[in-house]
Amino acid sequence: MVLCGAAGFLGSHLADRLLADGDRVTGIDNLATGSRANLATADNHPHFRFIEADVSLPWTWARDLDTPDLIAHFASPASPVDYGREPLATMAVNALGAMHGVELARATGARLLFASTSEVYGDPLEHPQPETYWGNVNPTGERACYDESKRYAEAYVTSAVRKLGIDARIVRIFNTYGPRMQPGDGRVIPNFCMAALRGEPLVIYGDGRQTRSFCYITDLIEGVVRLAKAQARSGSVVNIGNPDEFTIIDLAAIIAQIAGVPLKVVKAELPPDDPARRRPTIDLARSLLDWEPKVALRDGLVLTLEYFRGAAGASDVLASRI
Ligand code: NAD
Ligand code: UDP
Repeated sequence: MVLCGAAGFLGSHLADRLLADGDRVTGIDNLATGSRANLATADNHPHFRFIEADVSLPWTWARDLDTPDLIAHFASPASPVDYGREPLATMAVNALGAMHGVELARATGARLLFASTSEVYGDPLEHPQPETYWGNVNPTGERACYDESKRYAEAYVTSAVRKLGIDARIVRIFNTYGPRMQPGDGRVIPNFCMAALRGEPLVIYGDGRQTRSFCYITDLIEGVVRLAKAQARSGSVVNIGNPDEFTIIDLAAIIAQIAGVPLKVVKAELPPDDPARRRPTIDLARSLLDWEPKVALRDGLVLTLEYFRGAAGASDVLASRI
């Protein structure tokens, strides 16, 4: 299979899982936000191959591949700080990358799995968010480069299913966390973990009453693999996330407690268009994939804090205990 974004947080875990399942994996990444170190386990596997390439550009590297059975497109900055820094590259990788993925799927007969996001729901007016909700997105705001390019990719991929008859699926991923997140990627869990471990105040944007629902990496990967491998599910668009919803203040308190430090917070301005509430409806994943998350936030955060505390290698051992 071909895995775009293999050196990233999710991509590297997906690579490890598929290699363990017996698949051959060709990982593609331009290392824009990912790290070669994330692929330390995969690099030691005889069925793994890495190609450094930008998937927004024509996929010339694909000519040298054996015909893949699956193309998973996970390449894209995912943190608001990362895509805010590179808005045009973010739009390119989601729009052009998805188009190249469709082309390779059409040419080879491979199945395509596109990693979309809960951000397609924007600042949702419907709560929790089922797949049938069309969203509330500011098309010209600071998050638009990410939200709208994911929405474009969803439209392109589903149009290709109808027009070309390719087999493609879309996973709408809700906030996921765990080992191999970059400590400086700006997302709330790395920021809070690093601040707690340094004994610094946790910086809460806005009043901290906004909510998110956090899914541990092993749960997410299980859902993604089930969607990728399910028979006769072309055209499916499925939320994968943990429906337990927490305010950002709750999250800060839990992380401080696990880290064993007193809770110290400072407030900062809320970024524009920051969604007020987010929680997935996962009825479809339950019924189509017989999937639901198993790892409670507190348990996942213990493992994640261990990762941020120590070396990446040691944390992988901890993650594998779940
Ligand atoms: P990440 O930044 O850790 O990984 C993304 C990877 O894509 C990186 O290795 C990066 O170098 C690579 N990449 C970026 N642009 C590229 C390009 N033009 N060509 C080749 N490689 C490129 O992010 P992540 O958290 O692992 O997210 C992976 C995917 O899942 C993304 O598509 C993201 O939108 C989606 N997603 C993630 C979350 C989450 O909570 N982690 C939530 C919703 C959706
Ligand atoms: N956030 C925060 N402090 C931080 C980083 C983020 O209060 O140091 C808030 C942010 O405003 C948002 C939530 O935490 O409401 C989740 O932010 P993140 O960047 O992790 O992901 P998002 O779900 O917004 O894409």
